Amino acid sequence: MTFLSALMTMSDASVRKPLGVFGGTFDPLHFAHLRLAEEAVDALGLCAVRWIPAGQPALRDSPKVSAAQRLEMVRLAIAGNPRFELDAAEVEAAQPSYTVPTLERLRQPQVCGMERPLVLLVGADAFTAMTDWHRWEKLIDLAHIAVAHRPGYAVDAASLSPALARLYRDRFCADPLLLAEAPAGRIATFAMTALDISATRIRTLLSKGHSPRYLLPEVLVEHIQAHHFYSEI
Ligand code: ATP
Repeated sequence: MTFLSALMTMSDASVRKPLGVFGGTFDPLHFAHLRLAEEAVDALGLCAVRWIPAGQPALRDSPKVSAAQRLEMVRLAIAGNPRFELDAAEVEAAQPSYTVPTLERLRQPQVCGMERPLVLLVGADAFTAMTDWHRWEKLIDLAHIAVAHRPGYAVDAASLSPALARLYRDRFCADPLLLAEAPAGRIATFAMTALDISATRIRTLLSKGHSPRYLLPEVLVEHIQAHHFYSEI
């Protein structure tokens, strides 16, 4: 192999490396979110993870702090990590956030186009509830889905609704590195470091005046205290 062809093969490989897409309410962001995204890069061979905070989450109570404030917390928490990028579009849209329209936006030619492998990153709890999502059957046509283990939630067909269990069986891909071979259509799982942390628990601690330290980055602990977020829930 000549030097030039080796170089071309390398750049082909990096073009084909999947992009991770990680949505969430992040109310607030915590260490399990960060580890999920960081470990997904290595486990799934991603080029990067695109963080997409939800503006107005469609399927849950209103977040306790505004979309702009949650976006700012994500920006602070991921700053300086070259593997992470921030996508503010759902926050700026000022309308309910749905994942299928977000993926359709990413598939536009001027963003990622149709060929680039995209991997939607979700925790096991979010995956189990996916059939409640707006136009959920379209998800798998637009992206792969990678499910991270989460303490307290099983990742197996037996614990899924019949429609999701069928999809899971049909599309399961045992080798996550094979996600790079197609733009969308496969489901993989990965066993991230188990961290039994939730934003709900952090909000509860803060509302009682207890410390959330060591559950989320110090920069967010200071930011939350400075702005008196979550003092009541
Ligand atoms: P809340 O407690 O407010 O419901 P959360 O901690 O579950 O929040 P979200 O912003 O709703 O956080 O989650 C964003 C994504 O991160 C979801 O796909 C969720 O499954 C995943 N996730 C959150 N916490 C964990 C965790 N501890 N382990 C694995 N995945 C997680």
